[in-house]
Amino acid sequence: MNRILHWIDGQAVEGTSGRSGPVFDPATGQQQSAVDFASVGDVDRAVAVAKAAFSGWRATNLSRRAEVMFRMRELVDANRKEIASLLSKEHGKVLGDALGEVARGLENIEFACGVPNLLKGGYSEQASTGVDVYSIKQPLGVVAGITPFNFPAMVPMWMFANALACGNTFVLKPSEKDPSASMLIAELLKQAGLPDGAFNVLHGDKVAVDRLLEHPDVAAVSFVGSTPIARYIYETGTKNGKRVQALGGAKNHMLVLADADLDMAADAAVSAAYGSAGERCMAISVVLASDAIADQLVEKIQERIPSIKVGPAADDGNEMGPLITGEHRDKVKGYVEGAEGEGATLVVDGTQDVPADGFFLKPSLIDRVRPGMKCYDDEIFGPVLSVARISGYQEGIDLINANQFGNGTAIFTRDGGAARQFEFDVQVGMVGVNVPIPVPVSYYSFGGWKASLFGDQHMYGPDGINFYTRTKVVTRRWPDPRTSSVDLGFPQNR
Ligand code: NAD
Repeated sequence: MNRILHWIDGQAVEGTSGRSGPVFDPATGQQQSAVDFASVGDVDRAVAVAKAAFSGWRATNLSRRAEVMFRMRELVDANRKEIASLLSKEHGKVLGDALGEVARGLENIEFACGVPNLLKGGYSEQASTGVDVYSIKQPLGVVAGITPFNFPAMVPMWMFANALACGNTFVLKPSEKDPSASMLIAELLKQAGLPDGAFNVLHGDKVAVDRLLEHPDVAAVSFVGSTPIARYIYETGTKNGKRVQALGGAKNHMLVLADADLDMAADAAVSAAYGSAGERCMAISVVLASDAIADQLVEKIQERIPSIKVGPAADDGNEMGPLITGEHRDKVKGYVEGAEGEGATLVVDGTQDVPADGFFLKPSLIDRVRPGMKCYDDEIFGPVLSVARISGYQEGIDLINANQFGNGTAIFTRDGGAARQFEFDVQVGMVGVNVPIPVPVSYYSFGGWKASLFGDQHMYGPDGINFYTRTKVVTRRWPDPRTSSVDLGFPQNR
């Protein structure tokens, strides 16, 4: 059995807990590896190594730090296929989708290459006579990243690129379900010239996470995962005096007005609901269809579903792979099976006629869904698209704003005024206009509202730089015989 180790101080090391977890091939349902689970001692060692590396790395000049990021950019570019095939092997997403994940992650390394410019502070000459004031941004120290199974390469890149470029050292606790991509990333960072100890990977479960949350030498924690754990990470981390950004789950609505291009809306709904088997935090899970066009739209979505090719990522031509585990597949299946009992209409049942091996489901479409039904209220995180019929714009916006989540949303319309009103009204962090998955480019920041994010700073982009630095303001003067005198009063502008 293949064994996956931790990465501490520039090399793969065995854990000391004696505990491990299974890594499945979701396309066959068979276990393919065992991943070491970190003990408290393993966490302490990784944090100590990262702490020791911090003083040298933060003193490394900006050009050198940018150079490491540029080299990492080249290495990830050259290894796109290797990273993507690891993602397909452990997560199950098809190769094209995995390559897309690598490409979107790479953008964040490219953004971090601009770190000399990003860390410029402000400067005010002659704030008082002979006195200048300026601000500088300094790294926090050892920072931790805890990441989910659905983007095993991209989400770590959201975090470590900016964290390292800003001069921090990093401890990553990736998802234990698909941990191999993080080990390849660690090797590439070493090849890029990052000093040993500046980037470490600890695999594991709550034991590792809890130790990171309480460790006195961890200054900040970035988390991406489900809402209950995000809330827990935020509450525990902040209680222990850490800076925390914790991104949670989602229930993304796509509002389709009567004047929308219905073929474009149907293409978008199908792509955004079933891509990556619906295991994306920005997946569309509810279409809000205006009554006037709802029958047509449901028909157009339904007719597109049979041509979606479901199967193992390894077979060319498949568009949708399996779900991550058998347990998760069964949970998703339960929402589909329960929908009619709650009063919804099951238009396409994706639980039937699925491949015998592996954790597969086919796309499901549920119509006439309302709040109060489990398939509407819960984040399903699988290939299940619900349709809720609405009288028009106001009912749609009311439903979106009443939802506990506020990650992503989209409006489909030809009416610029309605789209602009939607941007103004909607209580969601990332908004698409005729764009179903509005993941911001790396020079903006990613983050939802309400139960989709706990903390003040969004992930990556300008917020990422703010999160991984703290500001110091220097008020400075030099001895000058013309201004020097004894004065016990409070310093003030003259
Ligand atoms: P998860 O919350 O189960 O796990 C995320 C991380 O937390 C993993 O590293 C896991 O090991 C750790 N963890 C799990 N249970 C824990 C516990 N009790 N105590 C401490 N740590 C624990 O999430 P997941 O199933 O890996 O990922 C899917 C979820 O992530 C979905 O809800 C999805 O919406 C969300 N997600 C959100 C975003 C976003 O940007 N908002 C992006 C991707 C995924």
